Amino acid sequence: VLAWSGAGAGAGAGTASDDHFTVSSSALQRGALVQMAASAGDGTDAAPAPSPAPPLPPNPNPFGWDFSKPVRKSRADRLIMDLPVAAIRRPLRRTRANNEEKVEALMASIGEIGLQEPIDVLEYEGNYYGFSGCHRYEAHVRLGKEFIRCRVRKADASTLRMHMM
Ligand code: ADP
Repeated sequence: VLAWSGAGAGAGAGTASDDHFTVSSSALQRGALVQMAASAGDGTDAAPAPSPAPPLPPNPNPFGWDFSKPVRKSRADRLIMDLPVAAIRRPLRRTRANNEEKVEALMASIGEIGLQEPIDVLEYEGNYYGFSGCHRYEAHVRLGKEFIRCRVRKADASTLRMHMM
């Protein structure tokens, strides 16, 4: 309503500014009318207080996992494979603590709908190394799963060394 309505219509600056003023003042008048209507009653028919919002249902996904979009495709240098859980070496396992709540939530979710996003694994000289996906890996171990879906990338010694740091 407050848009500059006169400009662009070929009007001079004065007219444009008059137009603008006209629009503004009519908007103000409308506002005043609305206000008058709102205060016309004697106060007894005041709008009822808004009822309190209903309690939210428990959030089944407190960590915000979202599987509504397609899972990222494997890149050319990565293979999706089901590897034996026992075959994955986790060199940093002892130095990185897992979030217990997350592991438990993942156990429930993976038990129900399966692993939706493979864990990333490096392959070096026929051995598989996992540095991330710790919670998914741990959930698989605790669920007693024999295999875990992995996105495998071939690594050289220097890449592996870098991940160890
Ligand atoms: P992680 O250490 O395993 O990477 P995060 O909590 O950082 O643990 O991430 C959990 C990941 O697990 C998310 O990327 C999520 O998309 C993925 N995921 C795969 N399958 C499931 C599942 N069934 N339920 C919940 N998350 C899943």
